[in-house]
Amino acid sequence: MFKIYNTLTGKVEEFVPHREGKVSMYTCGPTVYHYAHIGNLRSYICEDVLEKSLRYVGYDVKRVMNITDVGHLSSDADTGEDKMLKGARREHKSVMEIADYYTKAFFGDCAALNIKTPDVVEPATNCIPEFIKMIEGLLEKGYAYKAGENIYFDTSKLSEYYVFGNQNEDELKVGVRDDVEEDTNKRNKNDFVLWFTRSKFEKQALKWNSPWGVGYPGWHIECSCIGMKHLGEYMDIHCGGVDNIFPHHTNEIAQSESFIGHKWCNYWFHVHHLNDRSGKMSKSKGNILTVTVLKEQGYNPLAYRFFCLQSHYRKPLEFSYDALDNAVSAYDKLRKSALRLTEGEQGSVDEAAVREYKDKFIAAISNDVNTSSALTVVYEVIKADISNSTKVELLKSFDYVLGLDLLKPEEEKEESIDEELKAYVEEMIAKRAEAKKAKDFALADSIRDELASKGIVIKDTREGVVWEKTK
Ligand code: AMP
Ligand code: ZN
Repeated sequence: MFKIYNTLTGKVEEFVPHREGKVSMYTCGPTVYHYAHIGNLRSYICEDVLEKSLRYVGYDVKRVMNITDVGHLSSDADTGEDKMLKGARREHKSVMEIADYYTKAFFGDCAALNIKTPDVVEPATNCIPEFIKMIEGLLEKGYAYKAGENIYFDTSKLSEYYVFGNQNEDELKVGVRDDVEEDTNKRNKNDFVLWFTRSKFEKQALKWNSPWGVGYPGWHIECSCIGMKHLGEYMDIHCGGVDNIFPHHTNEIAQSESFIGHKWCNYWFHVHHLNDRSGKMSKSKGNILTVTVLKEQGYNPLAYRFFCLQSHYRKPLEFSYDALDNAVSAYDKLRKSALRLTEGEQGSVDEAAVREYKDKFIAAISNDVNTSSALTVVYEVIKADISNSTKVELLKSFDYVLGLDLLKPEEEKEESIDEELKAYVEEMIAKRAEAKKAKDFALADSIRDELASKGIVIKDTREGVVWEKTK
């Protein structure tokens, strides 16, 4: 029996999918206006382990993720500037260039952390017709209204809006939190925008025709539509970080269930935050640490994955370099012990022992994805009085879920890090060439300086740009 904590009921429950043996799973993807920080990536690591655990126990999983490349304003409550536009302005690039660059960077980080790419990845800007269709449906059914030329969802039409409970009304007051004006078009405080044709910032880069005029979608509509497009009207598990519970997931449920007329998703999986001493790590606060920075500091990204797996996804995790260093030494020791098993006498595989330890491992991951217990099973296997070949078979099998490269020799990983470096430098060189072409020499120089600060020297030659790593 696979058990999972469901934020909707506040309980650990037996997981029963809608269709036997199959799981439809949705993950809120990144807003691609900046690098993902290691807090965001904690969420993606835990969701990756959930997906792989479900597959490990025999489910056929289809997982979908969106990429937010339009519509997410600086405040989750429809106020402030579009985050993508802000990113584009900061870097003197177009919104689509920003989206493309940071989407690639995100998947580069995921690869370094052994996070599997979901079966379907869909950028919001691909699905405008689907958004329009759902908004039309909500208007027809009386769940939405037009005001000040925007379309809003009317939360007063619902018998229960706060489906996750526990929301402190005072904390939610728009304006107090972000020092911004309340949107007077809204009939109710928590109504949210489905489609903007008018807002305080007219410079929105991406706009589309709609029955209500040229405009762009609000943030929440994308996950409802992209989820339904690929998974149909019934979703088994929806994931995100705890900050997504309100308003994002609350609003997703409001609009989805009003549109389809029945319950949409049964299990809501939320990962708690990675904090540092100053609080939640957040892109907008700027206290962020990225995988690239960790790598530059000499950390193997998988040591960070190990650090995350040591604690439970439903507890806040405090980041400090001391804590990470402890994880690094434990991880190195574990890998050395695992690799030693592949040397010397292997013996034959003891099938009964394989079954016994696999059952223990399955019990750990089926208990609300208890990764620290799963790691304990790994240590038990290493110490057990069974043949090396049995141990190796078990560790290989467990590593499908854990993703720690327990049996991969160090050199192989080094090579893949070099591949990433190569891809990064080549991308920077291409960007510098573009900047030069556009006569933006300041930008071209800043790219060269950025590379130099990482010990990469580039030279313009007749054959093109060549580079070398000097330190
Ligand atoms: P964003 O790119 O800001 O839309 O966030 C991507 C994902 O990271 C969302 O699921 C957030 O809930 C999650 N997230 C944001 N900050 C943190 C954090 N400090 N720790 C863990 N997850 C986070
Ligand atoms: Zn979402």
